[in-house]
Amino acid sequence: MLIVMRDHATQAEIDHVVSLLKEAGAEAHLSRGEVKTIIGVIGDRETMYALELDGVPGVEQVIRVLKPYKLVSRDFQAEDTVITVAGTSVGGTAFGLIAGPCSVESPEQVMTTARAVKAAGATMLRGGAYKPRTSPYAFQGMGEAGLKLLREAADEVGLPVVTEVLDVRDAEKVAQYADVLQVGARNMQNFMMLEELGRMRKPVLLKRGMSATIEELLSAAEYILKGGNREVILCERGIRTFETYTRNTLDLAAVAALRTLTHLPVIVDPSHATGRRDLVAPLVNAAIAVGANGVMVEVHPDPEHARCDGPQSLTLDGFASLASMVEARVRAEGRVLGGAAA
Ligand code: PEP
Ligand code: MN
Repeated sequence: MLIVMRDHATQAEIDHVVSLLKEAGAEAHLSRGEVKTIIGVIGDRETMYALELDGVPGVEQVIRVLKPYKLVSRDFQAEDTVITVAGTSVGGTAFGLIAGPCSVESPEQVMTTARAVKAAGATMLRGGAYKPRTSPYAFQGMGEAGLKLLREAADEVGLPVVTEVLDVRDAEKVAQYADVLQVGARNMQNFMMLEELGRMRKPVLLKRGMSATIEELLSAAEYILKGGNREVILCERGIRTFETYTRNTLDLAAVAALRTLTHLPVIVDPSHATGRRDLVAPLVNAAIAVGANGVMVEVHPDPEHARCDGPQSLTLDGFASLASMVEARVRAEGRVLGGAAA
């Protein structure tokens, strides 16, 4: 349920509504705009239907939401959420360009990549230390040693770190090294993990499950917001279809739809969506065109010898030319890479 307060409702009126909700055993989440405050109410259906809030001072409208998500919805918050980490932003007019290797492999590999992507204009460094691999015999990542290398490289070049939390038991440890915690496609509906990340106060990059609907993705994000963590970046990374030419099928319609359904930033990962280096640039272009708030791409100094996802990884030069195209496209739309003044 959403309670729309009248324009310029007083603090006392808002507090009164919140106290009525608390008395009824419901949770209240406030969204404060310039003139309007909207209160998202979470509680069981019967309690909410029994609540008589029409006519309470300051209340303009009570909306009974039928969707399985509320806090992530544009009905709850009309303005785009802008997430800022270490001086760089994603959301609104700020475009995120996240780049780095699929997995951290060695000090040289991650440092070389970090320097190159930073020089080219990346706004965040990605890299996996815990890798979700289809085969248990494939490289599983360097673990905590990888997190350390990623952090060192990022600090040297001055970029925030995005890395995956593969297991909820590692969440605190990963959070010590990372600025943004990634939930991989395979964990999108790991509800215990989502609840844990909801309790934490670090931005989350939530990837769409490979067979998840848009509603399921938004509901997964809702778990995190419900816990009190409002900083979630959604990522479309391709879904499973009958097509096998590409690794997955990039669902650009979902990106356009999500931009209308939610205030959260939506980014695109064309690397995992296609599995092919040659398709990354065209789909980055397409992502910008459909309104994505950023892209995340895999980059490796020597893709042929990458331990993971070499065929989809851009070379350092390939990333540099992509980044200059992105910068120009984004600027032409009145947006800014990382949101900082150029
Ligand atoms: C990744 O980004 O490192 C990754 C494993 O992607 P996904 O979870 O989308 O497969
Ligand atoms: Mn990968």
